[in-house]
Amino acid sequence: MTDALRPPDRCPGLLRPFIADDGALVRLRMPGGRVAVSVLAQVSAIAAQYGAPVLQLTSRGNLQLRALPDPLPESLIVAVEATGLLPSASHERVRNIIAAPQSRGLDELVGAFDAALMAEPRLASLPGRFLFAFSDATGSVLSERWDVAYQRTSPTSGVLYAGQFGRAVAPADAVAAMIDVALRFVETAPAGAWNVRDLPTPSDLLRHPSERAERVTTDGATSRPVVAPPLVPGTVGDDVVAGVPLGMLTPEHVEALAEVAETVVVTPWRSVVVRGGAAQVEVLRRAGLVTESEGPWARLSACVGAPSCRRTTVPTLDLARSAAETVASRRLTATQDVHVVGCERRCGTGVSDRVLVAPPTVDDVVSALTTPAPAATRGEQ
Ligand code: SF4
Repeated sequence: MTDALRPPDRCPGLLRPFIADDGALVRLRMPGGRVAVSVLAQVSAIAAQYGAPVLQLTSRGNLQLRALPDPLPESLIVAVEATGLLPSASHERVRNIIAAPQSRGLDELVGAFDAALMAEPRLASLPGRFLFAFSDATGSVLSERWDVAYQRTSPTSGVLYAGQFGRAVAPADAVAAMIDVALRFVETAPAGAWNVRDLPTPSDLLRHPSERAERVTTDGATSRPVVAPPLVPGTVGDDVVAGVPLGMLTPEHVEALAEVAETVVVTPWRSVVVRGGAAQVEVLRRAGLVTESEGPWARLSACVGAPSCRRTTVPTLDLARSAAETVASRRLTATQDVHVVGCERRCGTGVSDRVLVAPPTVDDVVSALTTPAPAATRGEQ
């Protein structure tokens, strides 16, 4: 499909900010969430200098800076470019790649895919909503709503998926195969198709001159890949999953991360994985990061709401903070993942979240947090 036929893609980037009620918002992509803490520190300082002094983590493991001047000062753009987070002006909004946070073995593959993506001019027109995923045999991150995924099941084998279809692809061929699928989407998707799930026959994306796409059974029961649930805060082996309350990474959080690691992985679940950081979990906890699976901040999140977003009058962040305090003070147990939003757009909803749209009171949030309920839909924030 040509750009002329595609409806406007409103996903923000550094070079095309979104203008919210609290100012300009930019989104910075970090393929696989892999990032040096020194880069986080630089971006945190830029955020503090020009806008809100926090880095907002999105549901695709990206970063957002908000409450920035409109128009963006040239000095801000230059400063962000100097961090290395804008390696391609033409492809900045299509580098949406999630990857199993704990899998060291995927780091090289993710880097190679990102480089190949940026090297293909035709892929600059992918929709910003299109999501690539890389996982290992655990199935981590495959719980998210990806479009194309590669699951490496051993050092020499893996499966490439598009929707419910897949075909065996060796890791050595995975990058080229993923690029092929993305190109086929760009060239054949009808107007209005943002994602693979919008296509009438997603299996066509996987067709190869010598191979047919087939429903692949990897777990013996379904045609879907084996999927792991989202990581929850706490130690996992030698690693720490550090939850970030409300997905707002503060300068104090970044300082603590710098004390314990050189690189971290930002997850799609408003947390940061510190590989090998289990022995220093106390440093992270003291800085306000969530290092235990119990407690309200392991399960509660919210969109920015009022006054930052013009689509609602509900102060979602304040509601969530009050609810967390109430649950803690009443010694209640949070049993349900809850995401508080100000309107039906449901920004930032996770796949396992119960979504509360404009809840009228703090007690409504507390009740939802402590009562099991069904899941709902999602979108990046
Ligand atoms: S869910 Fe609605 S109120 Fe919340 S950030 Fe999105 S558009 Fe704004």
